[in-house]
Amino acid sequence: MGVITTSAILLRSFNYSETSKVLRFFTRDHGVMAVMAKGSRKSHGRFGGSIETFVTGELTAYVRPTRDLQTLKDFSATRPRRPLAAHVLRFAGASMLAEVALEHSGEGPAPEIFERLNHGLDAVEVVDESELPATLLREAWGLVADLGYHPVLDPCVQCGRALEAGEMGRFDFAGGGVRCAHCAEDGPGPRLGPHARRQLRQMLAGDPSVQVSHARAHLRLLENFVTYHLAGSRPLRTFQFLADLLGQDDSVTLEHM
Ligand SMILES: [Zn+2]
Repeated sequence: MGVITTSAILLRSFNYSETSKVLRFFTRDHGVMAVMAKGSRKSHGRFGGSIETFVTGELTAYVRPTRDLQTLKDFSATRPRRPLAAHVLRFAGASMLAEVALEHSGEGPAPEIFERLNHGLDAVEVVDESELPATLLREAWGLVADLGYHPVLDPCVQCGRALEAGEMGRFDFAGGGVRCAHCAEDGPGPRLGPHARRQLRQMLAGDPSVQVSHARAHLRLLENFVTYHLAGSRPLRTFQFLADLLGQDDSVTLEHM
C-alpha cells in the first residue's frame, strides 16, 4: 500500500455508516478517485467541517492500485466554496459540472481537466446571477471538450461542406456534430439555427462575453450530447434539476434561433 498526495476537488459524498463517508474527488494526478473517510461524520471528528462538497484542497490517501475505493489519510482545504451551497442555482450548476467531470475514466494525471473544473467552479461561485446560465453552459461544454468529445460545428459531419452563415443545420449526436441543411433533411437529432450555432461556437471557444438567449434549450442539447457520448444513456439527474430551476418555456427549441 502506498501513500499519495494530490490536489483534489470533492464532487460528491455519500454516508457509508454511522461514522464514515465515501467521498468522490476529481484529482489532478489520478482523475476520479473514491476514498473512504473514516470518522468523517462525527462533528468533532478528524475532518470535522473541512470536507464540504466542491471544496478544493490537498488530498492524502492510502492507495492500493487494485482497489476502487481508497482510504483518506488527510485533507486540507485551500478553496472552501461555501457560497455555492447557499445559492440553489449555483449549487445545481456546480452539481451539473461535477456530474460531467465524474464521467472521466482515465486514472493518470489530468491537469487540464482539473484546472478547467477548478476555474469553472470559481466562476459559478462569483459570476453575476444574470450571467450564470451562460457561464454554466460555457464551462460544461469546455469540460466536455477536454474530456475528448468536442462537437464538430463546421463543416458538415455528413458531407464535409462548410455551412453558410445563415444556414439551418441539425445536431446529429451519433455523428458528433452538425449536419448542413441538405444533409439535415433525413437526419436524426434536433434542428439548430445559425444563431444557436454561433453561441455554441463561442461557448466552446470559452468566450466570456457569450450571450445565451435560450439557456434551457441549450441545456437540453448539452444533456443529450453528454448522455450519448459520455454517460452511456444513463440518465443525468443534475440536468433535470437545473432545467427546472432555469424555469423557461420548455417548448422553445434551438431551431428558431
Ligand atoms: Zn452536409
